[in-house]
Amino acid sequence: AEARLQRTQRMESLGQLAGGVAHDFNNLLAVILNYAEFIVEDGADTPFALDAEQILRAGRRGSELTHQLLAFARREVIRPKPLDVNRVVSEVHQMLTRSLGEHIALDLDLADRLPSVVADPGQLEQVLVNLAVNARDAMPSGGVLTIDTGLVHDHVRIRVSDTGSGMPREVMDKAFEPFFTTKPSGEGTGLGLATVYGIVVQAGGTVKLYSEPGLGTTITIMLPASDAEPHTGEPARPPRPAARG
Ligand code: ADP
Repeated sequence: AEARLQRTQRMESLGQLAGGVAHDFNNLLAVILNYAEFIVEDGADTPFALDAEQILRAGRRGSELTHQLLAFARREVIRPKPLDVNRVVSEVHQMLTRSLGEHIALDLDLADRLPSVVADPGQLEQVLVNLAVNARDAMPSGGVLTIDTGLVHDHVRIRVSDTGSGMPREVMDKAFEPFFTTKPSGEGTGLGLATVYGIVVQAGGTVKLYSEPGLGTTITIMLPASDAEPHTGEPARPPRPAARG
């Protein structure tokens, strides 16, 4: 528990640091982008036009990245409520199917009846989206993504498994660290699993990672079951776009 607490605090201060840096960096980028736009517009017939376009393109990608960082670092207002996990999974089902593409099958295996868990619906959706994006990236030539739910003692279990590349030991050890990524620059932010971890721990749960190189990866989330009736009010607000990865 001590180690977990330290880890959470480390994530939090890293998040704040990242937020501060991303903010200042974004302001600098805005200036660079502005001047590059001038050159592209007014210098269209100069030898520098193409170079300026390259600056614009790279700058815009940098700007997207800093926005993802800011979203990660921002302390959003969290509204935990009793939720039916199966319902949340069903609600993101369509979006996930679409973003997985044709060559990846999505299998849902939902427990018949589940007690509720107390969490923010938007955040729980974000968790599922982040895990699905990672699974997709790990299965470039297709495979199966399975999401199953169940009750284990007094915890609701959500398990997300893929038949993708899996992770070697060195990657598993670092996978939850903010900014750790093995993806090409511009594609991975290294914030996907750190975000999942932060959300689940904040909701009183745990995350476990099991991965077998060449066979696939399973992420198991345990959330404490609650006696409260699940909230069936307004639909969850849509999650912010997943940081790729
Ligand atoms: P990102 O996806 O932006 O790289 P994450 O924090 O989501 O950031 O993941 C960190 C790293 O963990 C990834 O770069 C990848 O190497 C590894 N990883 C995460 N999920 C999976 C998965 N389902 N299969 C294989 N590797 C994974």
